[in-house]
Amino acid sequence: MAEETIFSKIIRREIPAEILYQDDLVTAFKDISPRAPQHVLIVPNILIPTLNDVKAADEPALGRMVTVAAKLAKEAGIDEDGYRLIINCNQHGGQEVFHIHMHLLGGKPLGPMLAV
Ligand code: AMP
Repeated sequence: MAEETIFSKIIRREIPAEILYQDDLVTAFKDISPRAPQHVLIVPNILIPTLNDVKAADEPALGRMVTVAAKLAKEAGIDEDGYRLIINCNQHGGQEVFHIHMHLLGGKPLGPMLAV
C-alpha cells in the first residue's frame, strides 16, 4: 500500500493550496515553488506513486490531466506562445513527491528541453 503524500491532503482540502481546478478525477493547483511565471501541478485524485504504477484503469485520469492542462494553459493565456508538460519519474527523473503529477510550465521561453 503506497504511502500518502502532501498532495492527498491538498486534494481533500485539508491543507491550503491555490487550487485552480478540481473534478472527480483530477486536481490542479499552483506549485509552491514556481520555476516559471506559470507553474501548475495537475494530479490524479487517487494515489498513483509513479508512472511505473500506472494501470490501464488509470487512463481516464491521465487523459483528463492532459485536457485540464490544455484548458488551464488557455485560461492563463499561454496557449498560443506555448508551454511544457513534464512528469518526472523516480530518482533519475527528479521526482520528489511520490504521487504522480504533471507540471504545466509557461509564461516565458523555457529554453532547451533538459536542465541538469
Ligand atoms: P517533482 O520533483 O516532479 O516531484 O515535483 C514536486 C513539486 O511539488 C515541486 O515543484 C514542488 O515545488 C511542489 N510542491 C511540493 N509541496 C507542495 C505544496 N505543498 N504545494 C504545492 N506544490 C508543492
